[in-house]
Amino acid sequence: MIRVRVAAKRAAIRGSNCRGGPRRARGTLPHNGAMPDTPCTDRAALLAACDTELHPERFKDYGPNGLQVEGKARIAKLVSGVTASRALIDAAINARADAIFVHHGLFWRGQDGTVTGWMKERLKRLLAHDINLLAYHLPLDAHPTLGNNAQLGQRLGLVATGRFGEQDLGFIGQRIDGEAFADADVLAWQLEHVLNRPVTYVGQAPVAIEKIAWCTGGAQGYFESAIAAGAQAFITGEISEPQAHLARECGVAFFACGHHATERYGAPALAAHVAAQLGIEHEFIDIDNPA
Ligand SMILES: [Zn+2]
Repeated sequence: MIRVRVAAKRAAIRGSNCRGGPRRARGTLPHNGAMPDTPCTDRAALLAACDTELHPERFKDYGPNGLQVEGKARIAKLVSGVTASRALIDAAINARADAIFVHHGLFWRGQDGTVTGWMKERLKRLLAHDINLLAYHLPLDAHPTLGNNAQLGQRLGLVATGRFGEQDLGFIGQRIDGEAFADADVLAWQLEHVLNRPVTYVGQAPVAIEKIAWCTGGAQGYFESAIAAGAQAFITGEISEPQAHLARECGVAFFACGHHATERYGAPALAAHVAAQLGIEHEFIDIDNPA
């Protein structure tokens, strides 16, 4: 587990408390056991700030975006993570979070709707500690600067010049320095170096790789759209059996770099941005995942 503490811009709300009024008098009861005068906001403001950035209404998604589990009204600390797993929830409880912001929430289309087993355990913890759970799936992939695709591209030294695929979720572009990758092996080295993990890749572009498409997570189904958009290489999190053949037959290199590894940058970027706006504390907690 890696923890990155992001400094809150507390100065931004100096002189006001979470109600937007004058600072609470010293010695009054804090909202969650935190020190009096801890900067805080309220749930509705946090939700509104996230919605304003992410525009969930523009997406057809696999689960509800926004507030998935309602917790306390006042929020002084926001924890972000990739997935609302039990490990993340436990870590957030230890970190005294009032709200958790994730990419993969608890509820997905196709679930049986029962609260048993692992679902019971996750929900029990959130409810017992009165912690809000906010989840944004496709809207977080798509955000032009703070989203998963934008943040991954930034780390890889890529600049997007266009979008492709269903709901325009895929990014396509080139290296920011205008250079090309000599071949798939060189691009694979760069990916492994940046993401600090091995990648699986199949296929070789017949020429140096200039045009690169990418879409984080489980976007292997976007490969054909990436080929149609003219990409010489496609970067995503996962690979399925058919993509290996398509890569070989189409001369477009396919890189599977890990679902988690490609999606661990959007949640902290967005949450840090919103926390700074609202003047609350933010901490990113990365629960390592080899998948
Ligand atoms: Zn994902």
